[in-house]
Amino acid sequence: MHSRPELPQPLLAVDGVTLQYKTTDHLVTATYRVDFEVLPSDRYILLGPSGCGKSTLLKAIGGYMAPVEGEIRLKGKKVTEPGPDRMMVFQEFDQLLPWKTVKQNVAFALTASGRANGAEATDRAHHYIEKVGLAKFADSFPHMLSGGMKQRVSIARGMAMEPDILLMDEPFAALDALTRRKMQDELLQLWDDTRFTVIFVTHSIEEAIRVGTRILLLSPHPGQVKAELNSIAPDEIGTPSQAKLEARINDMLFAK
Ligand code: ADP
Ligand code: MG
Repeated sequence: MHSRPELPQPLLAVDGVTLQYKTTDHLVTATYRVDFEVLPSDRYILLGPSGCGKSTLLKAIGGYMAPVEGEIRLKGKKVTEPGPDRMMVFQEFDQLLPWKTVKQNVAFALTASGRANGAEATDRAHHYIEKVGLAKFADSFPHMLSGGMKQRVSIARGMAMEPDILLMDEPFAALDALTRRKMQDELLQLWDDTRFTVIFVTHSIEEAIRVGTRILLLSPHPGQVKAELNSIAPDEIGTPSQAKLEARINDMLFAK
């Protein structure tokens, strides 16, 4: 192998990954020989129709499922189990503990995982709660917050763990259109502040273009890589470049 010093090392390498589910009478191939690389500070999108294996890929990256073929490497090291270097943010709102405050929810993740303790956990929790704009709600309980705010707490909790990579599985899919747009903008704002690396799953072409820097297009079941595209810059949203890229992705997704 030749080294290519002009390119940054991939943070995450997904290398020929086939993922299967074995049920009592079926073998379901969810993804077939999927390859991609995520670089530091990418907002990397997995885009494809429902059932193409996006969530399954994320589970494998999270270390919850082993490939039957190929491998996944984080910073060059093979992923074999879950770890605090990869944090998952789910779609469900009620992933927060209802009897703990916002700050306690975030701090609890830190102490339970041994990432930080005592005052350090509380300080770090507060820092990330501020980052997601919820400082005023640090002592509120989840039931007092809107869906969008609860989702922000989950993001703060994931970020407080200071993972190498944040894994987001259709985090905004259940939100109404306006809240969803707001959350997308906030995520981009947060990214501007911290430059975290994220893999973001969606089946919405519009969301993929808005949120991502790079987009991996997956074919329907079983998921295979159709293409990898660069997205457009945030200031090109609403310009003809957006419509052009949307049309291009549409064609690719529906091309045989
Ligand atoms: P996506 O997230 O893109 O909608 P999934 O990764 O959830 O797709 O699913 C990919 C394929 O694997 C689908 O055909 C789905 O039915 C199947 N699948 C997902 N989870 C399981 C499971 N626990 N057992 C068996 N098959 C599953
Ligand atoms: Mg899914």
